[in-house]
Amino acid sequence: MDLVISRPEGLYCPAGDFYIDPWRPVERAVITHAHGDHARAGNQHYLAAAPGETILRARLGQDINLQTLRYGERLLHQGVFLSFHPAGHVLGSAQIRLEYGGEVWVASGDYKIEPDGTCAPFEPVRCDTFITESTFGLPIYRWQPQAQVFAEINQWWQANASVEKTSVLFCYSLGKAQRILHGIDARVGPILVHPAVEPINRIYREAGVYLPPTIHAADIKKSDPRMRKALVLAPPSAANSSWMRRFGDYSDGFASGWMRVRGTRRRRGVDRGFVLSDHADWTGLLWAIKQSGAQRIMVTHGSAGALVRHLREQGLDAMAFDTQYGNDEEDVVIAKAELVGGLP
Ligand SMILES: [Zn+2]
Ligand SMILES: [Zn+2]
Repeated sequence: MDLVISRPEGLYCPAGDFYIDPWRPVERAVITHAHGDHARAGNQHYLAAAPGETILRARLGQDINLQTLRYGERLLHQGVFLSFHPAGHVLGSAQIRLEYGGEVWVASGDYKIEPDGTCAPFEPVRCDTFITESTFGLPIYRWQPQAQVFAEINQWWQANASVEKTSVLFCYSLGKAQRILHGIDARVGPILVHPAVEPINRIYREAGVYLPPTIHAADIKKSDPRMRKALVLAPPSAANSSWMRRFGDYSDGFASGWMRVRGTRRRRGVDRGFVLSDHADWTGLLWAIKQSGAQRIMVTHGSAGALVRHLREQGLDAMAFDTQYGNDEEDVVIAKAELVGGLP
């Protein structure tokens, strides 16, 4: 019998009677990370990796019934050994390792291979069956080294600042914003943030992640000269909102793996697209799958079909797992909406 199966509520472990990142309320939920498509409200019990505790409570409520384990710490539950291992995606993100009856399964959640300094780097975990995401599971998705992307962002910001124009960079508020803050050259000018971003910054700083000083955008007047040299970080949902009026004439950019798709940038109507993702690219997915040593691969999210086909050609036992992941991440929602023609 399979250690993890797909049920209407989510991925389910029959032996341990718990769900992994369920999308409907259940008794026991084991959570890979705090993004909205993986961590949902309404479950009776939560189990997650300790570094993600503060973010989970901030998003789901301080009073959720949450138990945590350090990375690598093992818990025995109804005969199933359960442990969390770094996924390198956002602070506290984890792969979930399950061992039962001599068999090992790993559910990846979302993961990224390149270490970024804002969370524990991805660690390959050996297993018999690997449940992998495939948000960017097409060969067209291959990321540049992040240092190159940060250099591009710095140049764009510098060029705008030199003509006294505010730079507004849209990015997902949990994970991406902090990664950008950590990676850019903060000497170029002041950094302003949207109210959705700053509470997460505070959590990262408390966890010991270095982020340069940031200012609440509301604390600076439109007439303040600092405004025109500033970089503003805001979630994509702030675009076209009245919140943007305070910046007058600005240049805008969008940082997302979806910027790799030709045409998305133009349709989005931003001046610049920066290809920066917190997910593994095609090469990264294949690398992680190989490192796992698994002979059986279950593919969730995104482009499951293409990845499944490719893995079968390599002689692996691969199949798609139907899930509802990938629906709530802001940049994904917006980019997809635009690929099919216009925001709702
Ligand atoms: Zn995620
Ligand atoms: Zn996801």
